[in-house]
Amino acid sequence: MADRRVLVKVLGGGGEVGRLSVLLRYSDSRRAVILDAGVNFDENDNPVFANTYPPKYVEAIVLSHAHLDHIGTAPMYYISGNPAIYATRPTLEMARLMWADFLKINGYYSPYEAGEVDKAVAATRTIDYGDEVEAAGFTLRFYNSGHIPGSVFTLIEADGLRIGFTGDVNTVETKLMKGMDIDSIGGVDVLIMEATYGASTHPPRRVSEAKLVSIVEEVVEQGGTVLIPAFSIARGQEVMMILEEYGVDVPVAVDGMIRKTTEIMLENRRYINNPHLLERAYNDYLFVRGWRDRSRVWRRPGVIIASAGMLKGGPSLYYVKKIGGKKKNAVILVSYQAEGSPGRRLLEEGKIPGSEEMLKARLEWLDLSSHADMYGLAEMARRLKPSRIIVVHSDAEVAAKFVEYLRGRVDGDTRIDIAVNNAEYILEA
Ligand SMILES: [Zn+2]
Ligand SMILES: [Zn+2]
Repeated sequence: MADRRVLVKVLGGGGEVGRLSVLLRYSDSRRAVILDAGVNFDENDNPVFANTYPPKYVEAIVLSHAHLDHIGTAPMYYISGNPAIYATRPTLEMARLMWADFLKINGYYSPYEAGEVDKAVAATRTIDYGDEVEAAGFTLRFYNSGHIPGSVFTLIEADGLRIGFTGDVNTVETKLMKGMDIDSIGGVDVLIMEATYGASTHPPRRVSEAKLVSIVEEVVEQGGTVLIPAFSIARGQEVMMILEEYGVDVPVAVDGMIRKTTEIMLENRRYINNPHLLERAYNDYLFVRGWRDRSRVWRRPGVIIASAGMLKGGPSLYYVKKIGGKKKNAVILVSYQAEGSPGRRLLEEGKIPGSEEMLKARLEWLDLSSHADMYGLAEMARRLKPSRIIVVHSDAEVAAKFVEYLRGRVDGDTRIDIAVNNAEYILEA
């Protein structure tokens, strides 16, 4: 079957960080595998879905992890179909929360509803690292991608051709995650890779951690309150674990979806790096359970870790309005702040989100990324030895800079493409 070719189509995530979705099928068949099916948001914060493929031909959807930019389009396949989803247990459990939350905020713009989400959940078969699955004539195998609990790198074998799909990766160890398991993969022919941070470098982890701790101690000692807006999957837990490990002796309150996601992580502890540390933080810190707690915690000196990470609603938006007007307080952003997000506007204009008042509290932005930076990404690519690389999930300008850097680090004959949406690639098996 040497004349069979494999078709790769980029359904979303070409030249953009968000709505990643990649289709794979043989050139002589309509049956397909979909790798991720995420959503993006436009400048008005409305959802932009990935393109889709006729659901009746989709044999499997792999969800690399539970972030919305990888799963937000997936339930669309259940309006008129019922393909199998493959995801790890923590990904499935967190995806349910994310889909429900997505519909709560964006239901009006969504072609699918809660019924489709239920069908997607019911169609999910949980997989684990090292598992092997057959779909649409391909063999899929899963590895730890190091990004967040349950995240996978997928290796697709097609008539001897090895295709790697990174999802999101992190190659360095964090409190919450061991780094990506590159060695077990053993090499690929084609690498479809994310490059979210392809043009930047992260400071050493310990530097960011120490800075976080010192700002917290300084502000609270002066009687201030520190708000740390954080994504509810991974970043919130990472901050909790840092404060716990450094033994920061101040009251810590946690608010938003972070409680539920922490519980999911603690129930799936083999997917995290230091379960005992997370458990200690979970037991030590106050989880805000209602307005009584909520209206109390910001009046006291201490730390509040709250979703959402970009201040797009959620309790963090409530708290920033409460504490932002006082100089003794501080706001520490620890998450990626997308163009046009309230968090980014706060950094650029200094106005408290949702008001005309200027922020008087100290404002900091720390890098605690769960993504590999340009060094990590290039090192991963070098070790996987692909002869062909397709860059996705990256701003077009960032991707161009990354490819320039990458060229000097992988074999000179490697063909590298920066994907655009709807691009098709034909691979010889
Ligand atoms: Zn992610
Ligand atoms: Zn992503």
